[in-house]
Amino acid sequence: MLLKRNTADDHLQLTDPDRNDPDRNDQGRPLMADDLGLGYAEALPPQTYEDFRARLTPEQYRIARGEGTERPYTPGNFHDEHRRGSYHCAACEAQLWSSANKFDSGTGWPSFYQPVEEEAVATKIDFKLVLPRTEVHCATCKSHMGHVFRDGPAPTGLRYCINGAVLQFRPAQ
Ligand SMILES: [Zn+2]
Repeated sequence: MLLKRNTADDHLQLTDPDRNDPDRNDQGRPLMADDLGLGYAEALPPQTYEDFRARLTPEQYRIARGEGTERPYTPGNFHDEHRRGSYHCAACEAQLWSSANKFDSGTGWPSFYQPVEEEAVATKIDFKLVLPRTEVHCATCKSHMGHVFRDGPAPTGLRYCINGAVLQFRPAQ
């Protein structure tokens, strides 16, 4: 088997248009409790999940609570946003990223080499594909943000590949 790098191709596989259903995961399976964040070490109170439904669009919910992935180069996903400012979790508004740590990865997803603070995000291993990947979520509300890969630029060598749909951008004043 050929070992290939985690590239846009992996994500393309995950964004088959037929599977673009907010109530199904990227493999087309209906979402279950575990997909909705209950499997995380720190589960949230039940009403929080209803809040997410109310606060997020179906696409945001699919990504944030179902660990979905948006299509690369989705208009408005901030991959080509070059203004200075801060990026916040769309679900809880915690600041997770800064334009100061953003770089152009050429993948079609907004990419950062580090979070604004180390504690802002948390990770877990994702075994959905053949090769395990490291999943990244908001440390505050556990919403899924994307994945982190070890092919990023200095100084960290990390590439946080993030779904722009679950980000709020606030331009610097
Ligand atoms: Zn959050």
